[in-house]
Amino acid sequence: MSYRILVVEDEPAMAQGLKDNLEIEGYRVAVFPDGEQGLRAALTEHPDLILLDVMLPKMSGIDVCKTLRSRGFANPILMLTARGQEMDRVVGLETGADDYIVKPFSLRELLARIHARLRREKRSGEDLRAYAFNGVHIDFERYTANRGDEALQLSPREFDLLRYLIRNRGRTVSREELLDAVWGLNDYPVTRTVDNHVGKLRQKVDTSPQPKHILTVHRVGYKFVD
Ligand code: CA
Repeated sequence: MSYRILVVEDEPAMAQGLKDNLEIEGYRVAVFPDGEQGLRAALTEHPDLILLDVMLPKMSGIDVCKTLRSRGFANPILMLTARGQEMDRVVGLETGADDYIVKPFSLRELLARIHARLRREKRSGEDLRAYAFNGVHIDFERYTANRGDEALQLSPREFDLLRYLIRNRGRTVSREELLDAVWGLNDYPVTRTVDNHVGKLRQKVDTSPQPKHILTVHRVGYKFVD
């Protein structure tokens, strides 16, 4: 099964070039020339990834992206920006975009970013029903956790956080990624929130004075190791 990519781009040559090259890579591609059509297609087709130009007729890429996130669209969105646009506004909590690439870009770099995003999505979608470590047994379907006979009280958010860390075990996960994955982009939490929840989670499941499983990676984020 090949991934479906939606391209929303109003410059015909750019749109056609993207379509041709993505199809050579084995993706299924649909192209729309303005924000309104792109938004409608994204909501009905639910593509695996969207390449979204910022400057579009009828509705800007930023508004399309915000609307999609507010409607629960969770797949990756990469913004195509022109040089000189304010990148801070384009990516992150405000719009909900995952990444951006500045025109003119190298095709190789764009393809690498797309591969990386889709690989990450696939991995974070790994089915994880239960997991045991450090004498703690976690049932992610029933949202229960216990150490031997002792039931541990984890909040639903702590379960989701732990599940995401375990699914990505061995890899450092940034606070921003955790915010996106566990809190969702509409909550507007701050990175401090992640630290607070990780702290509480450790008190329950990783209780040694020096954490052995939920590791802090200085200035970056967290990493789960078994
Ligand atoms: Ca444009």
